[in-house]
Amino acid sequence: MIPAIQATGLVKSFGDHQRALDEVSLHVESGEVLVVMGPSGSGKSTLIRTFNGLESLDEGRLEVLGIPLDADHDEHQIRRIRKRVGMVFQQFNLFPHLSILDNITLAPIRVQRRPRKEAEARANDLLTQMGIAEQAGKYPGQLSGGQQQRVAIARALALQPEIMLFDEPTSALDPERVKEVLDAMRSLANDGMTMVVVTHEMGFAREVADRVLFMDEGKVVETSSPDEFFANAREERSRRFLNQMM
Ligand code: ADP
Ligand code: MG
Repeated sequence: MIPAIQATGLVKSFGDHQRALDEVSLHVESGEVLVVMGPSGSGKSTLIRTFNGLESLDEGRLEVLGIPLDADHDEHQIRRIRKRVGMVFQQFNLFPHLSILDNITLAPIRVQRRPRKEAEARANDLLTQMGIAEQAGKYPGQLSGGQQQRVAIARALALQPEIMLFDEPTSALDPERVKEVLDAMRSLANDGMTMVVVTHEMGFAREVADRVLFMDEGKVVETSSPDEFFANAREERSRRFLNQMM
């Protein structure tokens, strides 16, 4: 089977600064949940953004769902990838002037040319799955952060992606709202979704991750099972990071 993501020697620099990605290699199997951890500025966002073409590469080989996204990939490949890889950001980025339902159906109707009825039925199913069915007619400003982030997840899922990327999806939330979003992500993982999740939520990583990848200064420091990583991290840098987090 083709791995969901296969990356070898990824390099990315911004200007003449030090490399944001410095020879990063990793793979993600279909159905796997990879949690990416590391200090601020270690390259986590840059890495995850390369997986749907939001960030271009300077060097290295990257294939997502078998589609090459190397340094010389073209717009056509990016369009193919974006249809199959969903992304959720720290900021929910919902359209404030559209209802929750319209936020979710916009891309399926406009981009995928699906009939409105079908798109709305699927949107309502997704809102139910996210535990916010009763919010469909409201506007983003009327929802809590945790509810808005679950709408953002539903919106990404509406395009029926094969991989979901999450970049610190709970970092902008009030502490009491974090759990509801993590619960939605956990249920998605249990349904078999392939996921790459950048997060500092150690409980989530411990329970849901198949593997934890730890980055520092643009490099992969170690990739371990969550049990191994949290109980007995191999690398000194990982242990220092974990000590600071606890
Ligand atoms: P993380 O998500 O782990 O905090 P980032 O991937 O955002 O790290 O950043 C890695 C490095 O790349 C940092 O030094 C950051 O300043 C730099 N960087 C990221 N995006 C840009 C950009 N658009 N322009 C310039 N530098 C950037
Ligand atoms: Mg980041």
